[in-house]
Amino acid sequence: MDWTNDSIVEWYDIARKEHVSQKGMNYGINPNYSIILMSRRDNAPYNDCIYPDGVTIEYEGHDVPKDYYKEHDQEAYTSSGGLTENGKFIEAVEHFKKTGVPEKVKVYEKIIPNRWSLKGMFDLVDYKIVNDGKRNVFRFILKLDESDPKNAGDAVDIRELPHTRLIPSSVKQEVYIRDGGKCVLCGSTENLHFDHDLPFSKGGTSLSADNIRILCQKCNLKKSNKIE
Ligand SMILES: [Zn+2]
Repeated sequence: MDWTNDSIVEWYDIARKEHVSQKGMNYGINPNYSIILMSRRDNAPYNDCIYPDGVTIEYEGHDVPKDYYKEHDQEAYTSSGGLTENGKFIEAVEHFKKTGVPEKVKVYEKIIPNRWSLKGMFDLVDYKIVNDGKRNVFRFILKLDESDPKNAGDAVDIRELPHTRLIPSSVKQEVYIRDGGKCVLCGSTENLHFDHDLPFSKGGTSLSADNIRILCQKCNLKKSNKIE
């Protein structure tokens, strides 16, 4: 199956397709893109930080090793002077500011253990250093690459391209549990994605579970044929 934005996928399939382990930041893991794996634990206080434009997110960098109590500043360099993943992402931002060519970052978000969702392909456009009250952390700013047709939203309707809006992880989690992890129309557990009941272009929101449901690919195709 071809994954699109908001596809629901198993961890096993991500690992096999992308050759990643479960760590948050994976710079340059593919010749064409980096990968970020978002989970509530990673981003706890800033979870679902989606900007009002609906297409920009912030992702908090990674901690120094064994910083279980999150007491230490995040680092761009290792103790031996090499770049950490934070450092590599920062370097990519500097490169973007010089050349205008952003690093592509594919973002997956964890819904429940073993169930993930593809948030989309993003451009890494900036970073900042923020004091969270105890220490300095990096926040990376990623903007949805709306030129990528796979980011069209609702899997097939390319006409919604300019209106793609990100669904917060918390909404996806709520919907996944409410819908029991299966298609609300036929009960299938294959090729699922989070679907906007009323499309954004017709006034539907991404921010409320009331307008999001789980659909399988077949039912989604039927739905879009009806709209035609
Ligand atoms: Zn279905």
